[in-house]
Amino acid sequence: MTDTIRVRFAPSPTGHLHIGGARTALFNWLYARHNGGTFVLRIEDTDRTRSTDEYIEAIIEGMKWLNLEWQEGPFRQTDRFGVYRDYVEKLVQEGKAYHCYCSAEELEQRRHLAIAQGKPQKYDGRCRDLKDPVPGRNPVVRFRTPQQGETVVDDLIRGSVVFENSQLDDLIILRSDNTPTYNFTVVVDDVDMRITHVIRGDDHLNNTPKQIHIYRALGYEIPKFAHLPMILGADKTRLSKRHGATSVMAYYEMGYLPDALVNYLVRLGWSHGDQEVFSREELINYFSFENVGNAAAVFNPEKLLWLNQQYIMATPPEKLAELVTPFLVKETIIAEGQALDMAWLARAVKTLQERAKTLVELAKSLRYYIVEEVTFDEKAKEKFLNDKSLPLLKDLNNALASHADFSHAGLEPVFKALVEKHGVKLGALAQPVRVAMTGGTESPGIYEVLEVIGKEKALKRLEKAVSIIA
Ligand code: GLU
Repeated sequence: MTDTIRVRFAPSPTGHLHIGGARTALFNWLYARHNGGTFVLRIEDTDRTRSTDEYIEAIIEGMKWLNLEWQEGPFRQTDRFGVYRDYVEKLVQEGKAYHCYCSAEELEQRRHLAIAQGKPQKYDGRCRDLKDPVPGRNPVVRFRTPQQGETVVDDLIRGSVVFENSQLDDLIILRSDNTPTYNFTVVVDDVDMRITHVIRGDDHLNNTPKQIHIYRALGYEIPKFAHLPMILGADKTRLSKRHGATSVMAYYEMGYLPDALVNYLVRLGWSHGDQEVFSREELINYFSFENVGNAAAVFNPEKLLWLNQQYIMATPPEKLAELVTPFLVKETIIAEGQALDMAWLARAVKTLQERAKTLVELAKSLRYYIVEEVTFDEKAKEKFLNDKSLPLLKDLNNALASHADFSHAGLEPVFKALVEKHGVKLGALAQPVRVAMTGGTESPGIYEVLEVIGKEKALKRLEKAVSIIA
């Protein structure tokens, strides 16, 4: 264990927390937890046209839902513009950055020319050694990127990736409106926040050599890098909305458990033998970059659903009862703020949790337990609530009216005696009772159902069924 590991998640608040971002956050969180290190949250909101406070809230909401707690932050880059400008100034003073007066139109023209001549489309460096300012123009500040030799990114996942410096541009670090750019702010922040490991998506791999040059120019130690493999949809294109929900909170809405999603996300790139289901403790213990592959990972919604079911089955009913309550409101099974007997709800949940793949399914299946009057499936009603079942239901109603023990063990002999008396199979009684109790033909065992519904409601429903037939 070392307390010197410091990692960060640095989302741009230009959208909700999505699957890819959450996986990056998770790997940072796991690496910090595994090493007893510190996890920093930094909001990269320098793009003021696309960043919003709503998205910052949404990202934080997603992180909290997934239980990925951070120790420092959230820091906002827009609060730190003064810091970045000081660093820019320092580089300009030292001749490591320079003012560039080329206008956007000029750059565009030169770019077209370069394309026509088959030359590399990069800044031609004409302001590099300019002595005097160009009057009437607002300059940008460019970083003087070394043009000789190569830069090696030693990546914990990718191994050594070599970049030719001649391919790298003199990138703009301060725009003409005096706002700093991503590749610069990210280095300044990672330095200031003493980040030891930069763990992020591999869409940033090409930025890394540029950033390494900036570290060197500022005279700072270069952190370790780990670029996580891309996440693809089933058709092997980059994961996007076309492949289904990509926002983390959409999975909350669909009734997923945060631990199931975390378990799923970790397997997008990381493995531990062929184990599929992990507790958080196991993840923290086992996590290392050695077991992160560099091949792209394919997002598989069916597998996520399967995992969610595993988690629902393994969750204590008391806890599930709590988790399902907001979904009961959404499904309009209970009213907002309506109090339920939570111990009773846990008993109801226990009879259904083996079958529910999501909390939404669980909520829907709880409906007949909770509502006053069940809604009948017309086919089930026709098939099972009829003259044939009438005498059985009447008899059962009478028998149960004077019967106190509504437990499985207490109910079974009552049913047994009745089917014997009428000379029918158990199903001939159980199925009509099931329809009377639930409105449909599918439910847990009839004794469990009656046990949860309880005597008062059960008798009412039997009487209702009898009156429907008669
Ligand atoms: N703000 C960047 C993004 O959202 C992340 C940059 C980084 O992790 O270095 O893609």
